[in-house]
Amino acid sequence: MAQLVVGFTFLASGFVKVADPMGMAHKLHAYTAYWGLPVSDGFLMEVGAVVMGVAEFMLGVYVVLGARRRMATAAVAVVMAAMTVLTAWIYAVNPVPDCGCFGDALTLTHGETLAKNVVLLLAALYLATHPLRVKRMVSERNGWITSVYALVYAITLALYSLHYLPLIDFTPYAPGASIRKALEGSADADQRLANFYLADPQGGEDLSYQVAEAQGCVFLLVVPQTEVADDGCNDRINDLYDYCADHSLPFYMATASDSTGRADWCDRTGAAYPILQAEDTELQAMVRSNPGLLLLRDGVVVAKWSNNNLPEVEGLEARLQALPDKGGALWRLLAWFFLPLLLVVVADALWIGHKFYRHHIYVKQFKLKRIMRKKIVAGNWKMNKTLQEGVALAQELNEALTADKPNCDVVICTPFIHLAPVAGVINPELVGLGAENCADKVSGAYTGEVSAAMVRSTGATHVILGHSERRAYYHETPEILKEKVNLALENNLEVIFCIGEVLEEREAGKQNEVVKAQLEGSLFDLTAEQFSHIILAYEPVWAIGTGKTATAEQAEEMHAFIRQTIADKFGAEAAENVSILYGGSCKPSNAKEIFSKENVDGGLIGGAALKVADFKGIIDAWK
Ligand code: PEP
Repeated sequence: MAQLVVGFTFLASGFVKVADPMGMAHKLHAYTAYWGLPVSDGFLMEVGAVVMGVAEFMLGVYVVLGARRRMATAAVAVVMAAMTVLTAWIYAVNPVPDCGCFGDALTLTHGETLAKNVVLLLAALYLATHPLRVKRMVSERNGWITSVYALVYAITLALYSLHYLPLIDFTPYAPGASIRKALEGSADADQRLANFYLADPQGGEDLSYQVAEAQGCVFLLVVPQTEVADDGCNDRINDLYDYCADHSLPFYMATASDSTGRADWCDRTGAAYPILQAEDTELQAMVRSNPGLLLLRDGVVVAKWSNNNLPEVEGLEARLQALPDKGGALWRLLAWFFLPLLLVVVADALWIGHKFYRHHIYVKQFKLKRIMRKKIVAGNWKMNKTLQEGVALAQELNEALTADKPNCDVVICTPFIHLAPVAGVINPELVGLGAENCADKVSGAYTGEVSAAMVRSTGATHVILGHSERRAYYHETPEILKEKVNLALENNLEVIFCIGEVLEEREAGKQNEVVKAQLEGSLFDLTAEQFSHIILAYEPVWAIGTGKTATAEQAEEMHAFIRQTIADKFGAEAAENVSILYGGSCKPSNAKEIFSKENVDGGLIGGAALKVADFKGIIDAWK
């Protein structure tokens, strides 16, 4: 409630100021004149009015939309505190007739203004002390669109209104207003028009009625102060006057300047039209331009022009017959402001809703993934590290993970010679241990080979099988790998089974086919129970050790395909449960993005597993 009251009040008072900056400038000048400041009612006052109006308008926008809440509510509270002090002083001293809060759109008594400001101050203080209770209508991300639009709108409106005339006329002299009726005391006339007063500067004779009661059209050139009036449009004024003289149309000028000012004007412009005396404030209300032009017909204001768009003589005939343009301007202007804003708010809400929905789905999937599948980061040391170096590396990793617990399963797969000693220095709760290979034979005369049972006897729990390097350099066929898998499973080893296409196969678009064949060739004879001890590692061969990573999208696409292939063969549950790791130039810098994909459950890491900092960086991608 406080948000809406304060926000819309600022919006409204800012709006009337930017819609009629010159009106506000006159009101500001009334203050400076009271304080005796030597500032003329001109450029500086206009700048002040525009700045004030735009600032108020923007604060209103921020508060209504709940944007920049801390700054906006604090600023609003400061402004309201200052305004309340000012209006209390105005109430006590009565220095100006109208405080100018709402321009000419709404005139309040000093007492009403003070009461309004006290209420607003309380509401503003509440908002400033509880900024987070201000409801956001637009997300933080898209808030700038509304801010920029509102700023452009306010500045454009202010500058247009200054250059021409206010797009909305809040003065009593708006087109359609009947001065005649007001002077006759008619109840349905704007009572403010009763101040309309024009006199003969020589004799002081009241000529207001003569102008207001005239039948047909009358032009009234309004020049509040001749000394500061723009005389760049003299020719056009004189043309208009000549036209009026030719067509027997009354043409007067009204000014508040004294005889010197009037004489000076005649000298500067060659004015031949009659000049009447009027009160400065009233002239400023008649038209927001110096000079400006008023067309009356039968005492009714029909049209108004600023010095920047005075009518040409050509086409004037039609203008004389036209009906007063009473507007619709206010609604048009409000529509131009609120409709685009509303559109942004709705689009933003849809966008946020969509994001929230996606986030919700993501969280659901992520939770599911956590529950169903293990997240794993496995290292493949390949043929690197002496025994001592390997033990030291394992020890260092163990220490790092003891100090900072991982959020996933960690496995290091080492050359055979490291297995037993490394098993002695790692905490198996923190770091799993695996071999990089095992024999396809149970035991016997196979010089140089290491069986699955021997691997298991070191304390290792995992074994990598089917790595592309073994397929390529040691000619391990799907059949050989099938034997190895069976033996590994028989010896209670978890198998990290690698699959992946070479570059030519990807370029030929055959990656799915290749990967499927690798799965079929070595794993499809397993039972579902046996398959539950398989971890798959998708390693595009073109990305291994090359620094060329598959994009997260490429990885996700292939992982989804693999999971589907498993689902088709072993059923949905097996597919949901199997962890599928990505391998190939995985680094701390890209791991997070790749692991964020729905079907990626971790990584098989080569080069980066040889340095604890890098390997740990990848493990931390799960945090
Ligand atoms: C690997 O050999 O399994 C591997 C993924 O290597 P790298 O991370 O060095 O590309």
